[in-house]
Amino acid sequence: KTVYLNGDYIALADAKISVLDRGFLFGDGIYEVIPAYKGRLFHLDAHLQRLQDSLTAIRLANPHTFDEWRAIFTPLLDASKDQYIYLQITRGVAPKRDHAFPEHIGPTVFAMCSDIAPFPGKVIGIKAVTIDDKRWQLCNAKAITLLANILHRQDALDQGAAEAILHRGEVVTEGAASNVFIVLNGVLITPPKGPDILPGITRDVILMLAQNNGLACKEDTITLAQLNAAEEIWVTSSTREIVPVIELNQTLVGTGQPGPVWQRMDALFQAYKATL
Ligand code: PMP
Repeated sequence: KTVYLNGDYIALADAKISVLDRGFLFGDGIYEVIPAYKGRLFHLDAHLQRLQDSLTAIRLANPHTFDEWRAIFTPLLDASKDQYIYLQITRGVAPKRDHAFPEHIGPTVFAMCSDIAPFPGKVIGIKAVTIDDKRWQLCNAKAITLLANILHRQDALDQGAAEAILHRGEVVTEGAASNVFIVLNGVLITPPKGPDILPGITRDVILMLAQNNGLACKEDTITLAQLNAAEEIWVTSSTREIVPVIELNQTLVGTGQPGPVWQRMDALFQAYKATL
């Protein structure tokens, strides 16, 4: 397997970075996950714009133009498969461990391509549990510092669920690695963008498809009471797409089957993917 590291395409086994890399020492970096269906990068511009926004949020210069990024990813892709690019940029390798931004060093840039693993929960639905959101106030940046997300996801797994639906007080934010949608009284609702959620690309595509196809939808605060009363709950992400939640905190959601609005949106999403 070939990966990209700081300008070179090398074997994964040969891709090494210093223990002084600030990604390793501090989690001082950002990342992106970009799906590529049969070699075609999905909404690349939106992912690269979010990459830029994440870099701006942590005050790191973008080392490449959009065209350069595309050129970096292309040799990693296999046109016969559904895959995703994982891209990580850290503040680089400093001479010593010091919180302050180091001067005169360049970033570490790493990219690799992996196959999208089939996820059965996408078809049959998953169980989810609600968990108090213990993350910080910069959740809109896709920071590699994922300790809280990992602990939330593992808490969910330990409870026999596949995803944690996070909330700050009474307000639902997002999943441990996904955005959240509900269908309530026939209306599709997802929380508005802000510092408490990652602006998911899948989320934006769903909102666009809902608008273009006459599905009632809005970006609005979701309370825990509304989550519990929802006819349908979905969690969305680039690698799993739109996953119906059929059980929340051991209680069936709706009929306990993937719902009709999910069926409709998933069909729209698959059709849309095929056009790009
Ligand atoms: N929120 C979080 C915390 C995530 O990690 C992710 C991606 N795994 C998402 C939302 C979904 O974003 P996207 O649709 O761009 O993959």
